[in-house]
Amino acid sequence: MAAKLQAVRGMNDLLPDVSPRWRGVEQRLQAVLGRYGYEEIRLPLVEPTALFARTIGEVTDIVEKEMYTFLDRNGDSLTLRPEGTAGVVRAGIEHGLFQGQVLRLWYQGPMFRHERPQRGRYRQFHQIGAECFGGAEPELDAELIAMTAQFWRELGLSGLRLELNSLGSREARAAYRAQLQAYFREHYAALDADSQRRLETNPLRILDSKNPDLAALIAAAPSLPEHLDADSRVHFERLCALLDSLGVAYTVNPRLVRGLDYYGRTVFEWVTDALGAQGTVCAGGRYDTLVEQLGGRPTPAIGFALGLERLLDLLGAQGIDPAPPRRVWYVVSTPGACRARALQLAQQLRAQPDAPSVLMDHAGGNFGKQMQRADRAGAEVALIIGEDELAAGTVTVRLLRAARPTQETVPQDQVRAAVIRLASETPA
Ligand code: ATP
Ligand code: MG
Repeated sequence: MAAKLQAVRGMNDLLPDVSPRWRGVEQRLQAVLGRYGYEEIRLPLVEPTALFARTIGEVTDIVEKEMYTFLDRNGDSLTLRPEGTAGVVRAGIEHGLFQGQVLRLWYQGPMFRHERPQRGRYRQFHQIGAECFGGAEPELDAELIAMTAQFWRELGLSGLRLELNSLGSREARAAYRAQLQAYFREHYAALDADSQRRLETNPLRILDSKNPDLAALIAAAPSLPEHLDADSRVHFERLCALLDSLGVAYTVNPRLVRGLDYYGRTVFEWVTDALGAQGTVCAGGRYDTLVEQLGGRPTPAIGFALGLERLLDLLGAQGIDPAPPRRVWYVVSTPGACRARALQLAQQLRAQPDAPSVLMDHAGGNFGKQMQRADRAGAEVALIIGEDELAAGTVTVRLLRAARPTQETVPQDQVRAAVIRLASETPA
């Protein structure tokens, strides 16, 4: 017997019972992005493997063990994108988008990482991200972070906490890295295997460890803010003051580092305690050297990505349904000539750009059965064509959600107007 075909582990189908909620979230976030001047960029899901190794960093979790990398038929090494920033920067350089002006871009879509699937952690997951290029001033950090705060307000979410830190300049980070390495070497035996491995390659990442056994050791480690260079310190202080002036609350978390190599100066995360271990919903930071490092003209930049699965999970936990309202009219008719006219009516109604979903009953059965199906479909209106209506060229319009029975028989071309009038005359 053939093996049953199933979705790849950690990759989810989004069925019609949840897709309206996804669409609602995406539409609202896109509306906010538009108000802040961000424009959409759509990029391939597959990129040359070297792009990720050179941007994210060779010794990060993503590049070391999470990428879906394969050889195509030409023998080229390709990778399913694990994140969006690398592709945006690649495309920006390739198409000459970075000309010194401020450029605001957003993207959305699936990302792929071979991680252990669990709540909030999947192998195909979805991000909406934004990148702002061409400005090094803290005003741009503040604007971008304030936009993410606006996301949550727009969705009616509460309980997300903004954590903020500065990673300083490359030089400052190198000096700090050496101190941190010396500290953790002294406590080598207390480290877990992951951290022992990171000690030589990427010791800052130990600070990001989620192992509770290491919490005390990490808390006592040398602190990054004390090693900040003067310029980065000023940048960070100005950012904090700007966020204060915008009423965006935050906590400074000196242990906050990001898992990708390209960040410097500002880093931030929006976190919640409501989702268990996978509590970071949105994360980002500044990456002023990445464009140049990939061969573009020097272009400072800041961006973030937010995880839609985690965001939807949080909305669900707070009882918020972001789905756009669904309006359904249901057309009921008897087979034969009546159904043909019903089909014509439905076609005519659907030609209006603001039409609701107009569902034809094709399953048949008597009117009672069809009305039951109309109810199950969540219809607000039934449009009935029986023999009488066929003969008279009319349609019976019946409101299904009204407090008292409401119906009226009207000429076919007056159906829309009749629904609007009846609804306005009748309490729901
Ligand atoms: P984590 O520490 O949880 O692994 P990360 O630092 O690897 O997160 P980023 O690369 O910063 O995550 O991605 C930005 C956001 O994308 C995360 O904050 C999270 O909301 C979401 N995200 C990242 N990886 C996954 C995943 N495997 N499944 C679902 N969402 C994810
Ligand atoms: Mg990760």
